[in-house]
Amino acid sequence: MTEPVVLEPAEVWAYLVGRELLPADASGVVREVGDGNMNRVFVAIPDDSAIAGLAVKQAPPWIQKLGPSAPMSPERALIEARALRRFAEYAPRQTPRVLDVDPPRFAFTMEDLSDLTVLRTALNDGAGLGRTSAEVGELVGRVTFATSVAGATPQARAALLADSVNPLLAEVTLQYLLGDPFTTAEHNHHHPALNTALQKLRSDPAVRTELATLRADFGGNAQALVHGDLHSGSVMVGVRKGEPVVRVIDPEFAMVGPIGLDLGLYLANVVIAAVRAYAQGDAERGNDHVLSIADCWDSFCAAWREGWPGRVDPLLDDGWLLRHLRGVWHDTLGYAAVELVRRVAGYSHASDLETLPDPGPASAVVLGLGHKLLVDREICGSRPDPRALAHLVSTSW
Ligand code: ADP
Ligand code: MG
Ligand code: MG
Ligand code: MG
Repeated sequence: MTEPVVLEPAEVWAYLVGRELLPADASGVVREVGDGNMNRVFVAIPDDSAIAGLAVKQAPPWIQKLGPSAPMSPERALIEARALRRFAEYAPRQTPRVLDVDPPRFAFTMEDLSDLTVLRTALNDGAGLGRTSAEVGELVGRVTFATSVAGATPQARAALLADSVNPLLAEVTLQYLLGDPFTTAEHNHHHPALNTALQKLRSDPAVRTELATLRADFGGNAQALVHGDLHSGSVMVGVRKGEPVVRVIDPEFAMVGPIGLDLGLYLANVVIAAVRAYAQGDAERGNDHVLSIADCWDSFCAAWREGWPGRVDPLLDDGWLLRHLRGVWHDTLGYAAVELVRRVAGYSHASDLETLPDPGPASAVVLGLGHKLLVDREICGSRPDPRALAHLVSTSW
């Protein structure tokens, strides 16, 4: 493997001209926009507004934030570009278009979204969710139906599986989402107000068994192509021509796995945004956020029901579909629960809570919800009941 060339901002324009993505005589500006966690992201904005802006994402052979002392395979950029192309096939409205993939440099170029805002930032700044949860639910529904046993033939699924192997990032999820937060691992941290509740959670045998079940499910339940990192930092939102626009970015963790992982991560982050609003005394916004849980679930189910008449396996009957959707809801609550715990007790916390004047009370509510949901998912009804989850959240504050 040749040493990948790490792009610098000053090189990006010439790089794009060299790949014939920009006209040789065009001029404009390049900005580095990545938030510096895993990868590098640049946008190139031509002076001539008739030429579309571009975004280049490159994976260095290490974790961007930590530098060369934390090596990680740059293949993740190519996995991400492949996933984005598949997402665009099934959910074009919510997926940024990939225009070019450059394997030797572990880079790809996509449409510029810099007129949009990262959802977590927008929510922290007081925005509502509007149609966002419905759009995310539709994307997950359409992508997972099309890549499930209902939407794809066994041959197509075998090819998908071979094409979506993502061992390194699967390890990251097992450690940072489904492992460390439930132990006293080195990089964990938490607000002192959580000491007692966290000790209880970490020594609860019911938590151990639920966590073990989710770990086994994560590795073993190859249901469909999932995004794998679908929190509110992986969604961009805005308005174009008066219409709401929602784009899901950053599927570098994509793999064939449990559908509930995507829904659970997204919904947990909606819950966290709601708890922030409650903590700020804005119950109305908090309630609106939690009610959007139902929008997400309903759109997800609608996408499955839309695909259902065209299923590739006629032996899958309506009874299976009901059972399947119930199972996905059960998993969704489990993954949501671990995400809630991770964001207050693991390595990577949520700025939604961290930027409150006192993150303590809100973090305690999030941890309590996570614990409760993890061990007693029936609390949200014996059948998929997103409104029961919304009720649980809105009455926990
Ligand atoms: P990472 O894998 O490092 O988390 P992301 O794909 O999440 O990278 O991108 C990091 C940031 O770069 C995003 O939060 C967003 O602000 C910006 N960004 C990502 N993709 C685009 C794009 N297509 N257009 C404009 N900005 C983008
Ligand atoms: Mg990031
Ligand atoms: Mg990423
Ligand atoms: Mg990201």
